[in-house]
Amino acid sequence: MICSRMNFIVTCVFVCFELKALDYIKVKINKPTKKIDLFSENRMRVSLLGKSKLSKKMSINCDFKSRRSFSKSLVASIESTSPIKYDGKFFKGKFDIIARKKSGCEIINTVKFENYVSSLLSKEMNKTWPIEALKAQAIAARSYALSKLKKNMSSTYHIESSEREQVSGSYSEQNENTDLAAYMTKDLILVDDKGRLVEAYYHAMCGGKLLDPNHIWEGSFYGFHTKKCEYCNKYKKEGFKDVISKKSFLQVLRKNGYPFKSLISVKNLDEYIVFSGIDMKKGSFKISKNKIKRILKNKIIKSFNFNIKIIGERIYLKGFGHGHGVGMCQMGALGMAEQGMSYKDILSYYYPKFKIISKEDLKL
Ligand SMILES: [Zn+2]
Repeated sequence: MICSRMNFIVTCVFVCFELKALDYIKVKINKPTKKIDLFSENRMRVSLLGKSKLSKKMSINCDFKSRRSFSKSLVASIESTSPIKYDGKFFKGKFDIIARKKSGCEIINTVKFENYVSSLLSKEMNKTWPIEALKAQAIAARSYALSKLKKNMSSTYHIESSEREQVSGSYSEQNENTDLAAYMTKDLILVDDKGRLVEAYYHAMCGGKLLDPNHIWEGSFYGFHTKKCEYCNKYKKEGFKDVISKKSFLQVLRKNGYPFKSLISVKNLDEYIVFSGIDMKKGSFKISKNKIKRILKNKIIKSFNFNIKIIGERIYLKGFGHGHGVGMCQMGALGMAEQGMSYKDILSYYYPKFKIISKEDLKL
């Protein structure tokens, strides 16, 4: 009996600790920089190289040059009862300044998870959009961030504010709308049919078709499939197009290991294009659109939702959308919310294999 009670207490201590740990997130908010200027209305408590002081303003010189000993080490910790101003914006929470050899310092902002979600809505979506679209975005972004937090639990930071991951905002970018969307979906996340937390990918606009990440990215992804999107069409403008000479296109293909002497035809599939021509061994190559975008280094291609045509000596490229095309289409979410649909409708449309639960019910 005593033994089982002890087990319960030990389990509770670990579970309770984990839940508390999940209430905050450590976000890298800047690229390494040589000088950091901070300000706070109330005086900041600054712990700098082992010494502590109180100050409203401070400037940290991170031009380390050859001082190797600073690499990856904590330079300063800063806390304040009022938001801290950096680069023209106010941030809630704590700042840790970390040195990166020669390149300067990074700021790691430890902030309440729900503040992070609210501030992100104005950067990854638009704070003036209908509340149901913002709520759907809050749940997708919370799931993505929580997956990163759990993966990087013991790292210097959990997630960076960047287009590669998620662009988070600051306290300055929160408003009533974003706070409300975060509050009304507090702790809600997406899990798959096995109860596992989902990295809920999303993108600006699919242009009519959602894609399967298994066909465009390296690695294995569960629960995302190719699907028609019926809600972003009204925002579809001209899309993007380009014309490339067949000669230079063949040169790029050859340089990347596709030994075509000539190109006869192309067949456009969802995530791939099959090129047929004359070569030494086989007559055709199936190349992913992601790879085509990469090898062409073409800035005009904004999504993987494009097709190629060969007419005479030219290659015509035409596509729609913006972003990788996986998971929730944000313009589609806007379209659905404008038609009066709820965040649950939006999420079940874009993530049909996933369900919404509270993070407290997540299997740890
Ligand atoms: Zn769409």
